[in-house]
Amino acid sequence: MAAYDFRTVIGADWSLPKQARLGPAIRTRRIFNESSGYSILAKDGGTDVNPALWKDYPHRSFVNLPVVTLADSRKEMIDPKAMLSFTKRYGLLDNLLTFEEDKEWTEFLESEGLLDYLKEKEDRLMVVESSPSPDTISKEIVGYSSEQIRKLVHTQSLLKYAWRSGDERALDAIDNYLSSGLPIHFDIDEGCFHIYVVNVQRLILMLFLRDHAEGKTAICANPDCPAPYFLKSRKTQKICEAGGCVTWAQRNYALKWWRENESKASKKNKKGTAK
Ligand SMILES: [Zn+2]
Repeated sequence: MAAYDFRTVIGADWSLPKQARLGPAIRTRRIFNESSGYSILAKDGGTDVNPALWKDYPHRSFVNLPVVTLADSRKEMIDPKAMLSFTKRYGLLDNLLTFEEDKEWTEFLESEGLLDYLKEKEDRLMVVESSPSPDTISKEIVGYSSEQIRKLVHTQSLLKYAWRSGDERALDAIDNYLSSGLPIHFDIDEGCFHIYVVNVQRLILMLFLRDHAEGKTAICANPDCPAPYFLKSRKTQKICEAGGCVTWAQRNYALKWWRENESKASKKNKKGTAK
C-alpha cells in the first residue's frame, strides 16, 4: 500500500493536577522521613494544560531534571523540588485515574494509617471527591507514589541514554511504548491532522523521536552545563543557549582555536616531512 504524506500537528489535551505539593514517602503501612524519598500529593481536576505558558519544551525540561541521591537508601531520585515544579507546569507523566466505586477504599486508607495523615494535611477533600479502588489507591492519593517516583528516574535515564547515544534499542523501546495503544484523539482541519496527546509523558517521547530524527537532539559541550540535553537550532551548534555556556564557550574559544590550529600546523609539518 502506498503511503501518503499528511501535515500533522500535535496538541496537548490533559488537566494539570490541583494543589500539587511534596509529601513523604509512603510504602506499605509506613510513612517514611524525608531522607528516604518523597511523593507528590495532588488533587484531581485542575485547569487544562496550556503549552503557551511553557518556557521550555517538556522533553528538554524532563530530561534535564536534576537527580539527587537519598541519604537513607542511597537511591537516586529526581530532585523533589524540581519534580514538583515540573509537575505543576507540565502535568503528571501518567494521568491521575478517576474512579466510580467508593466501597473499600476508606477502610483501606484507615488500615494503612493514611486517613489521619491526610486529615492532618487537610487532604481529605480529595479522598472524598474521588473514590479510588484499593489497588489503585496509591495512585489516587498521590500524584506520584514514592514507588512511581523511583521509577521516574528510570524513565528519565532511558530518555537520557537515547538522547546521548541514539541507540536503536532505546529508540525501539520508546517507539514500542508509544505505539502500544497510544491514547490520542484527532480531527482533520483544512487537510491537516490534529493529534491530541492525553498526557505529558507521551508528548515528551513523541517530541524526542521527532527531534532525534531531525538531528536536533544534542549534548552541551560545557561540562558544567546545568541542563546539558538541548535542541540544536543550527546543525553545527555545540553548546546550549544558556548564558553561562555562551560565556564559557567565548572564554574557551581563543584557547581552542590555538590548540586546533597548532595541531593542524604540526600535522602539516609532519606531512611535509613525510613527502
Ligand atoms: Zn549548556
